[in-house]
Amino acid sequence: MKCDPPLYRAAPPSLAVKPRLIRHLLLPPLIIALMIGLGYAGFWISEHYGIRSLSENGQRQLELHARAVESEISKYTYLPSLLELESSVSELLDDPSPEHRQTVNDYLEGLNRRSRSRAIYVMDTTGRVMATSNWRDVDSYLGEDLSFRAYFQNAIRGQPGRFYGIGSTNGEPGYYLAHGLEEHGKIIGVAVVKVRLEAMEERWQRARLEAFVSDENGIIILSSDPARRLKSVVPLSDETKEKLARSLQYYWFPLNELQPLARETLAEGVEKLTFPANSEVKSDEEDISYLAQTRPLSDTPWNFTLLTPLQDLRREAINQGILVAVAFALVAFLLIAWNERRKVIATRLAAREALQEANNQLERRITERTTDLRASNERLKAQIRERRQAEETLRRAQDELVQAGKLAAIGQMSTSIAHELNQPLAALRTLSGNTVRFLERGQLDVASTNLKTINELIDRMGRITASLRSFARRGDDKGQACLGKAVDAALQLLGGRVESVHLQLHREFADVQVQIDQTRLEQILVNLIGNALDAMHAQPLPELWLEGDEFDGKYRLRVRDNGHGIDAEARKHLFEPFFTTKPGEQGLGLGLTLSASLAAATGGHLGVEHPASGGTTFVLSLPLVSPTPAEPI
Ligand code: ADP
Repeated sequence: MKCDPPLYRAAPPSLAVKPRLIRHLLLPPLIIALMIGLGYAGFWISEHYGIRSLSENGQRQLELHARAVESEISKYTYLPSLLELESSVSELLDDPSPEHRQTVNDYLEGLNRRSRSRAIYVMDTTGRVMATSNWRDVDSYLGEDLSFRAYFQNAIRGQPGRFYGIGSTNGEPGYYLAHGLEEHGKIIGVAVVKVRLEAMEERWQRARLEAFVSDENGIIILSSDPARRLKSVVPLSDETKEKLARSLQYYWFPLNELQPLARETLAEGVEKLTFPANSEVKSDEEDISYLAQTRPLSDTPWNFTLLTPLQDLRREAINQGILVAVAFALVAFLLIAWNERRKVIATRLAAREALQEANNQLERRITERTTDLRASNERLKAQIRERRQAEETLRRAQDELVQAGKLAAIGQMSTSIAHELNQPLAALRTLSGNTVRFLERGQLDVASTNLKTINELIDRMGRITASLRSFARRGDDKGQACLGKAVDAALQLLGGRVESVHLQLHREFADVQVQIDQTRLEQILVNLIGNALDAMHAQPLPELWLEGDEFDGKYRLRVRDNGHGIDAEARKHLFEPFFTTKPGEQGLGLGLTLSASLAAATGGHLGVEHPASGGTTFVLSLPLVSPTPAEPI
């Protein structure tokens, strides 16, 4: 079966492979790039919205904690002004006697204890501490000149003195609230309350809140993280630094800047700050980002900043980003798998269609060819019928010919047959007459001898007629013959002629069984040997060789004589019917023709060779019944 070439013709490799190769090469980097891009987008969006939600939540927290800080600070706002009402204070300022001082000291000590402030003290208009709640302590402010303090300078001018600073006496930080004490419209002194705000820091720490308060100079005065304390949140010029150092507001602290790694302003009062991991601020391994939300504290120039760590948000955003990337990879994988499957199905469908088409074509062709074959089969059958008829006709004609040949041969031989039969008949007549006479005479022994001779003669005549009968009988194409027997029969049939020429016979063949009717083989041999005898009639020492050998499943019998041979012209017509060189009635020209057709009818062959040494060799090939040669005879 041949496939239809156009159906299976593939695209040229250069055209079919290249785009697929490029696609296969480009697809993985493209998917990876998209994964990274989408992952980053997922991360960014998640972080953005996370920050927004944190910021909203932080705003409420900011408000809450800023209010707490404000209320903590405002608790003490009116405390210094209350001292205006205290007569002992004004008396001390009018008359700074030790008794007055002690009275006020005691009073301030009690007030300080009740208000839980750090210290309360009163200064005169020169800034010297006249009385103080901590008069008992070693590092008491008593007698100290604090006129350089900004809160004193504000208060003496009648303005509220708000000040965060580190105490110059003991280096302790505190919030100072100062108030100018008036008497009859004139400021006679300044009352100061020092408050410690560290409690707030502790509260923040306990609540795990990250927050700080920066003052008007941008210096962090309160912080949940001690490391951030007294750091500047804004850049400070050298001039400012020097001014602040001189004011001793922050004692001798260096006032370094709180330097974030990155600072990003997200909105008004909202920043994103990133601090290095190994900075003094934090000692974790990662850099830490915060959402810093700042709000001014009312009644103060301070700002409250709430720091919300962004690590969790960042981690979540990273997870979201990874999730998006993985989801994309999964979708891409599913799409690729789906596409591949689609292609496979499409290819299979195309192949199935092509196969179907090929099948259809094949079936069409088979149908066409079957029709052709049927027609040619019919033709062949008709031809076979014709041939069979022809063969039948031929065989009948052949049989007729064989029969005619036989009859012709018998006719030819009739003279010698008559001679052969007449001789014993004459002898029989004589012998029978003699025998009657010998019987009449009573010579029984002689009569008996004559009768025996008569019997032998009758036997001989019977053999002659039997040979003739078998020769004349119609044979058939099938059957088996024994070569030795056939030769004997032929020689017997030609017995008279063989004896008359004193033939020297050479029998060099095997007694094999060949596939031919016995009578037909005898007939062929009679023809061949008879022709040889004719050819040798002038030969003084006639010799006949019968040589056999087995070749290719057949047995070849060579009938060679040393007769006159056949001339070149006669060789051309040897097997033609009625070709004869024999004079008069001697030859009919049927012997070789019939013999050749008898041999051919059984699948054999009759050929001729002309040996250089002279004479003629006829080669009779006949199929063997059994390929095993018999013993030579
Ligand atoms: P016929 O014997 O009646 O002539 P054949 O067909 O038997 O017919 O022989 C044809 C001719 O072939 C013979 O007339 C003879 O010339 C030639 N021929 C056949 N056998 C021999 C032979 N052995 N030697 C020479 N000539 C032969």
